Amino acid sequence: MGKVTGFLEYARRKVPYRAADVRSLDFQEFLLPLDPAERVEQGARCMDCGVPFCQSSYGCPVYNLIPEWNDLVFKGREREAFFRLRKTNNFPEFTGRVCPAPCEGSCVLGINQDPVTIKDNECWIADNAWEKGWMEPMPPESRTGKSVAVIGSGPAGLAAADQLNRAGHRVTVFERADRPGGLLMYGIPNMKLDKGLVMRRIAVMEAEGVEFRTSTRVGVDVPAARLMEDFDAVLVATGSTRPRDLAVPGRQLSGIHFAMDFLTANTKSLLDSAFSDGKRIDAKGKKVVVIGGGDTGNDCLGTSIRHGCAGVVNFELLPKPPESRTPDMPWPTFPRTLKVDYGHAEAIHAFGQDPREYCISTKEFVGDEAGNVKGVRTVRVEWKKNAAGQFVMEELAGTEEYFEADLVFLALGFLGPEAELLSDLGVETDGRGNAKAAYDSFATGTHKVFAAGDARRGQSLVVWAINEGRAAAREIDRFLCGRTCLP
Ligand SMILES: Cc1cc2nc3c(=O)[nH]c(=O)nc-3n(C[C@H](O)[C@H](O)[C@H](O)COP(=O)(O)OP(=O)(O)OC[C@H]3O[C@@H](n4cnc5c(N)ncnc54)[C@H](O)[C@@H]3O)c2cc1C
Ligand code: SF4
Repeated sequence: MGKVTGFLEYARRKVPYRAADVRSLDFQEFLLPLDPAERVEQGARCMDCGVPFCQSSYGCPVYNLIPEWNDLVFKGREREAFFRLRKTNNFPEFTGRVCPAPCEGSCVLGINQDPVTIKDNECWIADNAWEKGWMEPMPPESRTGKSVAVIGSGPAGLAAADQLNRAGHRVTVFERADRPGGLLMYGIPNMKLDKGLVMRRIAVMEAEGVEFRTSTRVGVDVPAARLMEDFDAVLVATGSTRPRDLAVPGRQLSGIHFAMDFLTANTKSLLDSAFSDGKRIDAKGKKVVVIGGGDTGNDCLGTSIRHGCAGVVNFELLPKPPESRTPDMPWPTFPRTLKVDYGHAEAIHAFGQDPREYCISTKEFVGDEAGNVKGVRTVRVEWKKNAAGQFVMEELAGTEEYFEADLVFLALGFLGPEAELLSDLGVETDGRGNAKAAYDSFATGTHKVFAAGDARRGQSLVVWAINEGRAAAREIDRFLCGRTCLP
């Protein structure tokens, strides 16, 4: 433990964001550069607990050695801190920006004080390492002669590719999009995770020997059967890409889009031409309704505001979360409390109120004569427990409302991976439509085919995708070599 009295002396200080009025004018990252001196103090707040819940199963899904690198940060041993972090997390520069930080929810200091700024510390260790040139390519010393095809270049595919390459296997990553990164590239917007950081990491992996084949859709551009012939193992890391729809009257009207169509087109147009190609769905001057909360809904808010929308409302079917923990979410479980994310803060700044409407259900989309959406009819709902103790939703009579809308984005979650590729590979699905493979083996029922990430577990988080990519790589290595040294 670095400083015995650190947690008593220093208050928690989060890395600030650029001011809402300034940052919402561009798509540059909203995080401000991290101050090294402040990081030392924040590292010193870690109590190096006897039982570090932050790195237990309640906390960090990749089991980052958090107290160890907090201590190294406090002692100024930055390079060691980075290599300690790299042991467990292939991409700390991504999680340090986008992770919801379950580690902080289970930090022991958080029982009666503000938790340690674990996520910011992680981000600083990673950014500092890149700046100092410690993130140089480290190709394996020898090759095993085995080859692995990874389908999908999201965080699961990338983590698996990185681990398998380190183990000496020849790895080829197939990606149907024109740029690699999965949702790191074409889901999470640039202001939250700069795409230059994703490409910089891909460049290191290429220098280490990983081959990326972009604009290559397996099952269309390359038959799945060819992969089965050409490679010794195949990993399905294709994500959860089927969006949930909303089957209410008026759904066919123009101006109603899946959130991912909006976000993907926006980032592609930004990267291809700084928006000069006119290929984004433009929210400028439009009244926007975002249906569904979560990260995706919030990213739609932030993106619409950057376009210069005329107003934005965000519907949420569930009740407003509590401001602090309740008995059903005790420490060290993840606190599902009310959060004001960047998009909410920007909407509050731009339009003077929180955009979120809770307990509201969409009944109908209303259109004009030309077939464009012009509004949304809604009703308020109440959640009650039934005799079996399950929550059920009831519509409240007399609470019908009408919201004007020129654009509607559906951010209602995802239903699992696309079925065609799984069927080509003979991979069964589970009851939720995900690729069927047990968490500990990651092996599907098809010989030499494995599955990991959102395609296997359903829509989740970047840090869970990294966890699964790493663990699947370990099992593939064991399958190929009969034993494994991968963690
Ligand atoms: C808008 C949005 C914002 C999010 N924000 C956050 C956040 O802030 N923090 C967080 O932790 N999580 C966030 N998430 C969730 C997180 O991004 C995912 O859980 C994570 O990316 C899943 O990783 P993955 O590798 O399993 O799949 P993905 O990232 O979805 O990658 C799968 C890749 O497979 C490719 N693919 C699919 N089929 C084929 C094929 N046949 N051939 C070739 N390639 C194929 C796809 O093009 C895609 O690139 C967000 C999700 C969304 C949608
Ligand atoms: S990856 Fe997420 S949970 Fe793990 S230490 Fe980083 S912020 Fe915390």
